[in-house]
Amino acid sequence: MSRWFFSLQFRLIAAFALVLALALVSVSMYVGFTAKQATEQFERDVEDARDARMEQLLTQYYANRRGWAGLQSAVEQASSLYGLRIVVRDPDGRILADSHQATSTHEMMARGSRLFPVLSRGQEVGSVVLGPSAAPLAVPEPSVSILASALNRSLLWTGLAAGAGGILLVSLLSRQVLAPVRGLSSAALRLGQGDLSQRVAAGGRDEIAHLGHTFNSMAEDLEKAEQQRRSLMADVAHELRTPLSNIQGYLEAVRDGLLQPDNDTIDTIYQQVLHLAHLVEDLRLLALAEAGALRLDPQLDSLEEALRRTTEAVRPRADASGVSLSMEIPQDFPLVEMDRTRIAQVVGNLLDNAIMHTPRNGRVTVLAEVVDDRAARVTVADTGSGIPPEALAQVFERFYRVDHSRTRATGGAGLGLTIAKQLIEAHGGTIHVESEQGNGSRFIFELPLAATAE
Ligand code: ADP
Repeated sequence: MSRWFFSLQFRLIAAFALVLALALVSVSMYVGFTAKQATEQFERDVEDARDARMEQLLTQYYANRRGWAGLQSAVEQASSLYGLRIVVRDPDGRILADSHQATSTHEMMARGSRLFPVLSRGQEVGSVVLGPSAAPLAVPEPSVSILASALNRSLLWTGLAAGAGGILLVSLLSRQVLAPVRGLSSAALRLGQGDLSQRVAAGGRDEIAHLGHTFNSMAEDLEKAEQQRRSLMADVAHELRTPLSNIQGYLEAVRDGLLQPDNDTIDTIYQQVLHLAHLVEDLRLLALAEAGALRLDPQLDSLEEALRRTTEAVRPRADASGVSLSMEIPQDFPLVEMDRTRIAQVVGNLLDNAIMHTPRNGRVTVLAEVVDDRAARVTVADTGSGIPPEALAQVFERFYRVDHSRTRATGGAGLGLTIAKQLIEAHGGTIHVESEQGNGSRFIFELPLAATAE
């Protein structure tokens, strides 16, 4: 009960009832006031018409009879007909006829009666005083005030009926309008309990339907995030398992005397451990970057130098693979606000990939340029295998490899480009790839130029 008392439906009904009551009270006050004024005016008009008729009657009486003879009985008749006391006096004030002889004229005058002269050919031949009759009429005239009270009564009943009907309608309508809200709240409850498949029916274009759409897209995002979390766990477990089972296999073979614990064996195991450490470090970095907790140390620094050093660091590998490595950078390249270690890490990663995917006698080029005075653009281009179009959109995704077997053998876990993207975006920059299968790839990233850097 108390829950219903605080519900939106109750508040809607209460607000409606309040508005209705206010409207009713103001309408009936206004109607009552206007009806009272109208009936008073009507009564005054009726009285005036009656006075005029009486005056006309007496004028005619005097004209027909050429005097006031027999006036008393005529006055009595008229009195019982109109329910009025009628007193007729001659010009000197003497009473000629009185329908109610018992009461004095002065007394009657004191009660606020009307007095007017009776004229004949422009001469005042008497005056008449009209006042309320003491004796009730045989057939009483209906009072006009009945009209006002009947009006008030019917207003009250109409108001009560409209109020009851309105409240019923509002409770039905609000029930219907609030049904989706109830659906939303129970879906949200089940969602909170872990059932991420919860959706609500969201038809229409009103605010509640909009809320329903928002809820559905939120539930969809949550479901997607949950799926991603699960697949990430599976991917991580999978990536860790391979080097671990390799190490396990080597150690078991050594224990069982199948393999000599010589330098070669130790080196193989060491490479696997290095691979594991590298993987764990990549995962840590990625987790930090995705949580927005990656600490950069940005400084106005020479991009040229960072590119040159990184290129020189990978040159032995390029030479060993028979790939020519070159760098093109304009003179007086502006300084860039960057964390040099992280940018070097990105460039190193792009160069590693380029060298790895470029066959002997191929070419890898590092190109730097300034675009529109607003960004420094670095392109790492190769003449290698290229990336198939269907894989282009996914190369920056976690654990994505174009060719699974080959890259697993070379040690890549599909995290390098994901980390590169996170690092570039953490610098406020962008990265993308252009590639044609068989015609090499171009990885391009841009870093915003600091406003002060010219
Ligand atoms: P990995 O650590 O496995 O190299 P990356 O995230 O660096 O993972 O790259 C993802 C995938 O993109 C790689 O498996 C590779 O197939 C593809 N790729 C990256 N760079 C190149 C390139 N220069 N040429 C062709 N394929 C590339």
